[in-house]
Parts: sequence; C-alpha cells; structure tokens
Amino acid sequence: MVKMAEVDLKTKYGTFREVLFYDGQKEAIAFYMGDISEQKDVLCRVHSSCIHAHIFNSIECECREEMAIAQQLIQKEGRGIIIWLEQEGKGNGHYALLKSIPFKREGMSQAEAYEVAGFQKDARDFSAAAKILKALNVASIKMLTNNQKKVDTLNQHGIEVSGIKSLEL
Ligand SMILES: [Zn+2]
Repeated sequence: MVKMAEVDLKTKYGTFREVLFYDGQKEAIAFYMGDISEQKDVLCRVHSSCIHAHIFNSIECECREEMAIAQQLIQKEGRGIIIWLEQEGKGNGHYALLKSIPFKREGMSQAEAYEVAGFQKDARDFSAAAKILKALNVASIKMLTNNQKKVDTLNQHGIEVSGIKSLEL
C-alpha cells in the first residue's frame, strides 16, 4: 500500500484530509479529519464505491445517506476516518450489479441476487482497509457500521476494533 498523494478537501461537513493509496492494482482513499495517528477509538467508516448512489443519486440504496451520516458523525467528534474502497457491486463489479438488479426486483436479497446472477454473494476484500489503518498508525477504531462482518474482517487483519457505533445521527 503506497501513499500516492494527499490534499485537503472542503465538504458540506467540514474539511477532510484525503490521502490516495495504491496497492499495485487498485486505488483506495483514506478521508479523515483531526488527529488520528497513534490515537485510540478513532471513528472509522469503511465504504465501498457505489456508482448508482454517488454518481446518479439513486434512491434504491442507502450508500449516499450512509456517507453523509459518517461525515457528519466524524465532524461532530472532530476526528475520524472514512476508507473508500473501489469495490463496486460488493466487489463483483458494476456489470454484476446490473445483472443482479432484475432478481432483486423479484424480491431477492442483494446477496441472493448476486448468487443467482452467477456472482459471489459478497466478494469484497477489506484487507486494504486494514493496511491503510496501519499505514496511518491508527491505534484502534470505533467502527461506524451495522455489519458485524466488517468488524470481524478488520480484526482478522490485525486491527483493534474497540467499539461499534451504528450509523445514526
Ligand atoms: Zn449503493
């Protein structure tokens, strides 16, 4: 995981520091506010790309709202980090997402829909998030998530998760 570039970015929810990483295959972004190096209980949201929500303002998923809430919670606390991973369609890609949508509209869960369309239920890989947290020397994180799997995965990759906070304002 190599640090490529960094800038400050003004957002609706305050100024964040953006650090772009590259792992040899993919880019990933650390987007943080406040002092996080060697800090404990740093609020952390791991967020995967979603073209429909973030580009096209889709109202069929919560990705956009979740990002806004994460930014606001971090702004309120004055400190925290969002890790953006290029994992469209739960890591299966945007093509897989489009192929899953008809099944989803028949009433299947997103996971089932991917499977029936011939893809993995969840092909996401959170190891890049662990590498970024290590590269930025974050001592422990309080995860902003409702997904226990993300917590377990980061734990397995050597990240101390000191708590979980649900994504609510
Ligand atoms: Zn989405």
